[in-house]
Parts: sequence; C-alpha cells; structure tokens
Amino acid sequence: MKFTDLNLIPPILEALKTQGYTQPTPIQEQTILPALEGKDVLGCAQTGTGKTAAFAIPVIQQLIQKPLHHSGKRPIRSLILTPTRELAIQIAESFENYGANTQLKYKVIFGGVSQHGQVKALQSGVDVLIATPGRLLDLMQQKYVQLHQLEYFVLDEADRMLDMGFLNDVKKVIAKIPKKRQSLFFSATMPKDIVKLANTILIDPIKVEV
Ligand code: AMP
Repeated sequence: MKFTDLNLIPPILEALKTQGYTQPTPIQEQTILPALEGKDVLGCAQTGTGKTAAFAIPVIQQLIQKPLHHSGKRPIRSLILTPTRELAIQIAESFENYGANTQLKYKVIFGGVSQHGQVKALQSGVDVLIATPGRLLDLMQQKYVQLHQLEYFVLDEADRMLDMGFLNDVKKVIAKIPKKRQSLFFSATMPKDIVKLANTILIDPIKVEV
C-alpha cells in the first residue's frame, strides 16, 4: 500500500515526502482511512510502530477539510492526551512535521515546569493541544483551557497512564469534553481496566492490532 491509496490531501502527502516516508506502516494502513471517515479507533500498538502518524494524519486532514467558521480566538478542536512530557514533545513535533504545509497551530503543555509560558502560548489560539493529564486539568480548572468545541480526542499510551497512576485524571478530563466527538484510543497492552476505559470512551470503534 502507498500513502496515495489513503485519500490524503496534497499538503500532507508533500509533508510525508519531506519526511522521507515511502509507505505507510501497518498501523497507519489500518487506521488512517477509517479515522478519516470519522470512525472511533481502538489501536493496540507499541511505540515505534508509527502510531503517532496514524492518529496525527487523520486529525490534521479533518481539521483542514472541515474548517470551523468562528470569530475571534480559534478554539481547541483536538486534544491529544499522553502520559509523559517526552511523549508530549515528540507528538507535538510529529504534528509540526505532518502539518508543516498547513496553517494549523499546535501547542504542548505538561507538568513539572512553570505554567506561565504555556498559558501565554495558549492565548494566541490553538487547533491541536497535546497535553499530559495533570497539567491539563490544572489549566482547565483555571479556565486557561476550554474544550467545549473539541471534535477529535486522542488517548495515547493508555496502559502507561494506568501504570503511572493517571487514570483518574484521564477520567476527569473525559467527563469534561463534548460527548459528540471522534475518539482514537491507543495502548500497547489491553489489561482489563484499559478495556473498561476504552468502552467508556469509544463508540463502535474499529479495532486495529499490530
Ligand atoms: P511512533 O511509533 O509514532 O513513535 O513512530 C516511530 C518512528 O517511525 C518515528 O521516528 C517516525 O518518524 C517514524 N515513522 C512513522 N511512520 C513512518 C513511515 N510510514 N515510514 C517511515 N518512518 C515512519
């Protein structure tokens, strides 16, 4: 399979070329088309399989193809929740790369550092917010982050969220985002608690395992 078989728009195909990617990985092959059709996805995949592009590409493409008409500051339309600062930064870089030929704005927030710079960065408007759960909840409580216009939600490394004790924070975030949304859920393993969590987040998902 080639990237050109996946219904991708030219700015994304160009960006993938620039990245030097010649063909999609198995998780990308199985995830991108259904995700572009708006389906929820339950993906069982480790880091290193190309799962970041598997969720970033359909999110970017849908944001471009379904522009939001609004006045004033652009609302956050997509949220990527991930357990660690390192992953958050890597994911943000992936969005920058795959979305390089678009006008979309990506911002990353994580704990362990002052919130000041992050709050300031958010004020210029964000399409895709990449966040760790604790800092996100903090900034939501302080009303620096508003998610009432969220359309695309990604939960990355769900099993690691559980291992790191973030499950409650994740559930609190989910309770505060719109029910009408697309959700993409990724986990390297699927223990019972993760299957249960997936069942509360996803509606009739396609299941992908690599
Ligand atoms: P991930 O599993 O998302 O952390 O990605 C692992 C690595 O594979 C990253 O360095 C990506 O840049 C790279 N990668 C992702 N998709 C492809 C692809 N289709 N072809 C070549 N490299 C890729």
